[in-house]
Amino acid sequence: MQLTFADRTALVTGAGRGIGKSIAVALAAEGATVICVSRSEQSCGSAADEINASGGKARALAVDVSDSTAVGDGAKALLDEYGVIDILVNNAGITRDGMMLRMNDEAWEDVLRTNLNSCFYWTRALAHPMARKRWGRIVNISSVVGLTGNAGQANYSAAKAGMIGFTKSVAREFASRNITANAVAPGFIETDMTAGLDESIHKSILSSIPLRRLGRPEEIANLVTYLCSEESGFVTGQVFTVDGGMTM
Ligand code: NAD
Repeated sequence: MQLTFADRTALVTGAGRGIGKSIAVALAAEGATVICVSRSEQSCGSAADEINASGGKARALAVDVSDSTAVGDGAKALLDEYGVIDILVNNAGITRDGMMLRMNDEAWEDVLRTNLNSCFYWTRALAHPMARKRWGRIVNISSVVGLTGNAGQANYSAAKAGMIGFTKSVAREFASRNITANAVAPGFIETDMTAGLDESIHKSILSSIPLRRLGRPEEIANLVTYLCSEESGFVTGQVFTVDGGMTM
């Protein structure tokens, strides 16, 4: 299937590395102009440079997505320049794991702000011009633990489950404006986020995955690219699990 991305502008958060970078590269390869957002200029800058060097169109924007004012200011500057951002992929995320009884307020709030509040800030800032254009695609990167829960990740699971409720509400609010909103829930994917797992945890994770391997960032990007294309126009309010069969 040939996907259509005629003159689309996309914004991907957490695009400096891992899943977000793969999504940015994949959307650029389809012809979208991609705004790579990350906390540091260095990481989103090098992702954008890589895309431009391989013939795509990208630019970097350093924004802390957990900061409502910074997101609002960044979005306003982009809208002044582009008029509309057609595609929004909320991918930036962090973990701060610990058993719930020992979790402090900071670990709870940081994870909620970065994973969940950020989706609200960007969507609120960018949805109105999409609605005016009567075209938009919003994809939020949740996690399987948002569906199943996970011991040691009460904060992260709550944020990822919250993203699912948020996605479905946005899908309902904006359906009449031809904007779709979907969530993708990855299982274990080979990125910096999972690189620190110790050998025994790694082994037990593998035994819980029927396909017996971790996923690759491009395997998330492939689905996200479809969900951002013209061709996915009848798909909205859904959660897509990509986890090697772990939660079937
Ligand atoms: P990663 O740690 O490799 O990359 C995360 C990116 O988010 C980085 O570029 C980082 O700079 C950016 N980021 C973090 N906080 C930010 C902030 N406040 N402002 C701006 N940018 C910020 O992670 P990843 O594995 O690529 O994960 C990407 C997304 O996928 C996350 O939302 C994560 O929760 C989710 N996810 C990952 C896995 C996995 O196994 N790797 C599984 C399920 C879900």
